[in-house]
Amino acid sequence: MARAAVSGRLGERLRWRVATLVGQREETPTTRTLVLDVPGWPGHLAGQHVDVRLTAEDGYSTQRSYSIASAPDGALLELTVQRVSDGEVSPYLVGDLIDGDLLELRGPVGGWFVWRPEQTEPVLLVAGGSGIVPLMAMIRARRQLGSTTPFRLLYSVRTPEDRMYADELQAPDPGLEVTFLYTRQVPEGWPRFPSRLTEKDMAAVAWAPSTLATSYVCGPTPFVEYAADLLVDLGQAPDRIRTERFGPTGG
Ligand SMILES: Cc1cc2nc3c(=O)[nH]c(=O)nc-3n(C[C@H](O)[C@H](O)[C@H](O)COP(=O)(O)OP(=O)(O)OC[C@H]3O[C@@H](n4cnc5c(N)ncnc54)[C@H](O)[C@@H]3O)c2cc1C
Repeated sequence: MARAAVSGRLGERLRWRVATLVGQREETPTTRTLVLDVPGWPGHLAGQHVDVRLTAEDGYSTQRSYSIASAPDGALLELTVQRVSDGEVSPYLVGDLIDGDLLELRGPVGGWFVWRPEQTEPVLLVAGGSGIVPLMAMIRARRQLGSTTPFRLLYSVRTPEDRMYADELQAPDPGLEVTFLYTRQVPEGWPRFPSRLTEKDMAAVAWAPSTLATSYVCGPTPFVEYAADLLVDLGQAPDRIRTERFGPTGG
């Protein structure tokens, strides 16, 4: 009986669903949020992703993973996609869709890189580029719950215009501290030159190991590995560091 219930839930998550695009928002010049109506969506946890499948008229089909940007209790599902200039799927999702278009997706996928409402320990979020997407879902989930769990976000981007969700991240949200890091160009009057993430940056935001904080690191693979190593060097227990790599997917 229990096995039937578990496999039933798994079957639900593996089932391809047809979502309707009901809205779009430009987040940055290369990034767009897609607002999707997904009939029968089983719900998700902050941090999970979906697989999106595109099928051409000749039957050729390909799929990519995209993190869910919206908080769990929304009626609609939001994905934020960054255009990879020579990419196969992302330029289409960012530039070619119009409201009413249909997309196939399945999920939610993932059970480790998630923040659950019952977690009360401090949280560090470390994002490189589009790695902000699942971390934004965690920030939104915390806010919607009215949770007082302390959150810190370190968000590394190339230039100020590459910041996704910039207004939302700069709006008051008690208990959330946001630090931006610019690697190519800084805003006017910014107190430092463009720089990649350093140990000093990480030390400034990392929680003391004694707090038993959980750290979530997401972005391109080299960024994630470097950031996670810095956290270990700073004394964080490896099993309290959760990582998600946005390397190429497909299939
Ligand atoms: C779990 C998971 C969640 C993800 N969530 C998101 C998300 O929320 N938003 C988002 O924009 N992307 C996300 N991605 C990345 C996404 O799945 C695709 O890899 C990305 O959109 C590129 O697909 P493409 O078809 O345009 O490029 P492809 O045709 O697959 O690749 C084209 C070229 O770009 C390189 N490339 C592929 N992916 C990337 C990348 N992410 N960064 C830099 N270069 C790349 C390839 O090596 C290749 O040279 C996620 C990936 C994973 C594994």
